[in-house]
Amino acid sequence: MKLDLKRMKEAPGQVFEVAWEERWEALPHRGRALPLREAVSVRGRAYYQGGIVYLDAELDTTVELECSRCLRPLSVRVHRREALAFEEEPAVATESLGVPLEDFRYEHGAEELELAPYVEGLLSAALAVKPLCREECQGLCPRCGQDLNEGPCACETQGTSTHEPEPKDPRWAKLKDLLVES
Ligand SMILES: [Zn+2]
Ligand SMILES: [Zn+2]
Repeated sequence: MKLDLKRMKEAPGQVFEVAWEERWEALPHRGRALPLREAVSVRGRAYYQGGIVYLDAELDTTVELECSRCLRPLSVRVHRREALAFEEEPAVATESLGVPLEDFRYEHGAEELELAPYVEGLLSAALAVKPLCREECQGLCPRCGQDLNEGPCACETQGTSTHEPEPKDPRWAKLKDLLVES
């Protein structure tokens, strides 16, 4: 996923088509490595002008993860349309400061720009924090761990029907005594 900066700089303003399909093992996401079912695809256009590389691209892939409620395996299609601008660092760079990726900068005089780390970050950011198999997923019983999508568990029925819960409010207890007396 490298842009040929040398070629782009020789033709400022000229639009270059980009189309990459890359097989990645996994997508790093919140400290995990999510398996990818298909190649990562990046398609769009790029051009160079006045020290800045502009990229307008569609990012696509499908990741394997699990529902945050019921933990069933889930395939999630990730699609993003991005318009990015990468700025060339000044000739005299403030080198001591490691430039973070999100700054979208490239080394002064660089002849190519590797986009994979950016694509990785953008795809990861596009994933929901709590993915769901479906909106109304019932999740797991917090007590016994049963998948409640498959029906209620024993814990649930125990609490409800068989006996009435004791009233907590002492005024109710008093009222009960009065009723018994009368
Ligand atoms: Zn679920
Ligand atoms: Zn249960």
